Amino acid sequence: MSSSRIAERVRRIKPSPSTSAADRANELRRQGKSIVNLVVGEPDFDTPVHIREAAAAAMNKGQTRYTLMAGTVELRQAIAAKLERENGLTYAMNEIIATSGAKSAIYSAFSITVERGDEVIIPAPYWVSYPDMVLASDGTPVIVACPEASGFKITPAQLAAAITPKTRWLLINSPANPTGASYTLDEYRALGEVLARHPQVLVMTDDIYEHIRFDGRRTPHLLQAAPALRDRTLVVNGVSKTYAMTGWRIGYVAGPRDLVQALDTLLSQSTGNCCSISQAAAAAALNGDQGFVADSVAIYKQRRDATLARINTIPGLSCRSPDGAFYLYINCAGLIGKTTPEGKTLNEDGDVVMYLLESVGVAVVAGTAYGLSPYFRLSIATSLEILEEGCTRIARAVAALR
Ligand code: PLP
Repeated sequence: MSSSRIAERVRRIKPSPSTSAADRANELRRQGKSIVNLVVGEPDFDTPVHIREAAAAAMNKGQTRYTLMAGTVELRQAIAAKLERENGLTYAMNEIIATSGAKSAIYSAFSITVERGDEVIIPAPYWVSYPDMVLASDGTPVIVACPEASGFKITPAQLAAAITPKTRWLLINSPANPTGASYTLDEYRALGEVLARHPQVLVMTDDIYEHIRFDGRRTPHLLQAAPALRDRTLVVNGVSKTYAMTGWRIGYVAGPRDLVQALDTLLSQSTGNCCSISQAAAAAALNGDQGFVADSVAIYKQRRDATLARINTIPGLSCRSPDGAFYLYINCAGLIGKTTPEGKTLNEDGDVVMYLLESVGVAVVAGTAYGLSPYFRLSIATSLEILEEGCTRIARAVAALR
């Protein structure tokens, strides 16, 4: 098929590497290979019962029609109450819009603001979709490498150096996929001072992993440290990760009225409102009992501790303890240059990942996908037994290298 049928902005982007890795693992499993899949980027729990019941009740009450584009009043009230209660942020109803997942919120936010050639600062390691969303919006991703030594976080000096007259956005994801790194209030204050000198820069905070953190504290928000940024910040969040609701597709944005209004206009002419039944479920999630969140975080923490301890005993691998999210971003520099039993040299993290998959059937995602190598991402959103089996196999594969 001729690629010229596809618009250039779409030809610039590639399928999600984590989806491709999961597809490859599933394909090998279909061929009868024993695969330990540590690729998954979603909770392995079921959506809590009270949330499912709220969805069923909504369906049975006939809430099956179009809703307001921005989302039902009930859902937006629940979002406003959540932002006030948990983040100390006050938003009016017309400053909030519900979207079909945080993913579409981020993409749509770029669509309404990015002109050809506008730059979007993305600290790396980053969530795989950010650069491609920018490219698909005719923008230019400006990737800032944030090494392990600085906790995988952008420093004020790096931010200052990356800003140009063309900078449109800074994207902050905390806790981050794939590193779990989380900014402190002091770090936000320092970034806020740099941003204060550049009023043309908008800020997007992707807070999707906000609740999945292991120190028992609330995740700080940039706007708590730098409230003056409120009129140029879009707060992006959703229910996918916190409430094990990835399939329900509810995200949301809170921000200044002009940006939210533009999102409303774009989405009203493209996707339309998000699923009415899912909106009822999301409102129940935000308003209801939060016990599931604490329980699931305790389980993630147990898995993080156990897996981290195992990985850090494997020669050639090391991993910084993630503050949150449900991934380990494992440094594999110690394996680069080693040779497999088949005589192949591991030249980069992609080779390491391929070797783990083919030799011992462990599926993980190469650091190249996240913009900082040599690393690989291992998801802990799976049972302790599977994680232990995965670590045992990784140790075996590493021991066979020369
Ligand atoms: N942001 C980050 C950092 C993510 O890792 C993901 C999902 O993997 C999303 C956003 C997308 O969330 P949603 O399911 O709400 O679209």
